[in-house]
Amino acid sequence: MTRKTASSDAALGMDRSIDRRDFLNGVAVAVGALGAGLAGAAQAGEPALWPQDGPGYYPPELNGMRGSHPGSFENAHKLRDGDFWSAAPRIKDTHETYDLVIVGAGISGLAAAWFYRAARPGARILILDNHDDFGGHAKRNEFHLNGKLHLLNGGTLEIDSPRPYSPQADGLLRALGIAPVALSEACNRRKIYTDLGLSHGVFLDEETFGSDRLVPGAPSTYDGLGGSWADFVAKAPLSETARADILRIQTGQIDYMPGLTSEEKKDRLSRMSYRAFLLDVARVDPIVAAFYQTHTQGEWGVGIDAVSALDCWGFFMPGFQGMNLKPGAAPRMSFTPAGYSEGGSYTFHFPDGNASITRLLVRDLIPGAIPGRDCRDVVTARVDYSRLDRRDNPVRIRLSSICLRARNIGGPERSKGVEIAYVRGEDVFRVKAKACVLASWNMMIPYLCPEMPQAQKAALHKIVKTPLVYTSVALRNWTAFQKLGISSVAAPGGYHRISAQLARGYRRLFRRAVAGKSDPPSHDPHALPSRSLGVRSEPRRPRRASGDAL
Ligand SMILES: Cc1cc2nc3c(=O)[nH]c(=O)nc-3n(C[C@H](O)[C@H](O)[C@H](O)COP(=O)(O)OP(=O)(O)OC[C@H]3O[C@@H](n4cnc5c(N)ncnc54)[C@H](O)[C@@H]3O)c2cc1C
Repeated sequence: MTRKTASSDAALGMDRSIDRRDFLNGVAVAVGALGAGLAGAAQAGEPALWPQDGPGYYPPELNGMRGSHPGSFENAHKLRDGDFWSAAPRIKDTHETYDLVIVGAGISGLAAAWFYRAARPGARILILDNHDDFGGHAKRNEFHLNGKLHLLNGGTLEIDSPRPYSPQADGLLRALGIAPVALSEACNRRKIYTDLGLSHGVFLDEETFGSDRLVPGAPSTYDGLGGSWADFVAKAPLSETARADILRIQTGQIDYMPGLTSEEKKDRLSRMSYRAFLLDVARVDPIVAAFYQTHTQGEWGVGIDAVSALDCWGFFMPGFQGMNLKPGAAPRMSFTPAGYSEGGSYTFHFPDGNASITRLLVRDLIPGAIPGRDCRDVVTARVDYSRLDRRDNPVRIRLSSICLRARNIGGPERSKGVEIAYVRGEDVFRVKAKACVLASWNMMIPYLCPEMPQAQKAALHKIVKTPLVYTSVALRNWTAFQKLGISSVAAPGGYHRISAQLARGYRRLFRRAVAGKSDPPSHDPHALPSRSLGVRSEPRRPRRASGDAL
């Protein structure tokens, strides 16, 4: 049978005949080990068809590049460059139809599934993700040291928002059994490093500051660690002028804009960078600007030359304490500092960061995939990945599957549903759904949805990502930190802004759940996870890895 085919149909391979392999792939799913090419998972007891269904599949334990790992992004680049569909293999129809297909298994995609299912119990939902694990930025790293499990967040760290959580977001947390304030009081050991006599260190590198020196005792208003700024700068290998200027910025009660009202000062601060404020208004030695250059990278992905002084005030950076600025947000402030300057939200973080939230969502959406019953035992529970994509699950999660096209069947005006094409392994597959949520990366959406209005595409193209690299390391012996008297090292001239940071501590309530204890006893040498944070926003590189100082 022949029929006239629209060019977009042809691009999806709808003009091609169905061969025997396609038929087997699409229909005879129960046949067993046909190898790559089948879209969904085997049932319990059947041979695994895809890695996520096989025994021993456990991505949280993998090392190496775990953000956009090899295999997760290459086809997206081809799509962007316009050469994916021209060389694409024949598309295979899975013959699967869902109420909803969600692209992206991060917190947004999993939460979308949760809310959709709450509104339509029994809905059939497929969640696609290009990575080998669910969670998006909310993934985790598992280490096994001396027979104990140690955890670190693989990306997003804590329940924390510039504004109070909306009734919907707060309600979701509660529905998952997460009570952030009570958990924080019960589980966090905020004083663990103070009790051990550890403070923060700063590594000043020769290339930027003239000599390599690890200076311990940097005071922190965040956690109260450290001594006085006078003691700290006295140990820094800097000129007298630079030392005095850092002390003045940190502790001075100086109004650098006398005669102006608080509103006028805020307006002026909104029109200059923090670097300009330091150099032109506070008139510090230029090396002092280098000392603060990377302070903003963790939040914004850029240095102090690209963030307004007013936003830095909202983010509690030093230098403004004598300026009599009224508390609260001001015009021209960006969303995040404006929110924090008004108080922000409650905060809490699990030993694996927000990965526990995604695990709780998966446990709720796919019963049997993760054992346990509350938000404490989920921390150490082991996910059974082979259960995520079973045919009789109302909600399925299909990993290592990158969506490259989502389009209305019948066009946007008279849509009869959505057709989604995704790549898994070497093959391109097609599923259909009544609706589709793109909880994926915004800047890729214009490529996924060619039929999207131009103005919307142009707006989405404006969004860019900056690499923010977390490096998680398991230390067999952390006593070097204890000997140096530090729990973290910042390196303002290094690639990793936070060069090393011990994991946070948890009280017994979590210890019961965290088999390997994330908190060290005060004496014996003990293994611990540690993290570094690197942001690639500076052209210069340190002469050597700042971590060498340890
Ligand atoms: C290092 C880091 C630290 C952070 N810290 C915090 C924090 O402490 N607190 C906080 O609230 N927020 C933090 N964030 C922000 C955090 O990213 C969000 O809060 C939240 O995790 C975003 O969830 P999401 O589902 O919207 O997006 P993501 O987590 O990005 O999930 C989107 C998913 O869609 C997948 N995807 C994309 N395109 C496709 C496609 N075409 N086909 C299939 N799958 C696709 C992606 O691979 C990803 O898995 C942090 C972010 C980073 C990077």
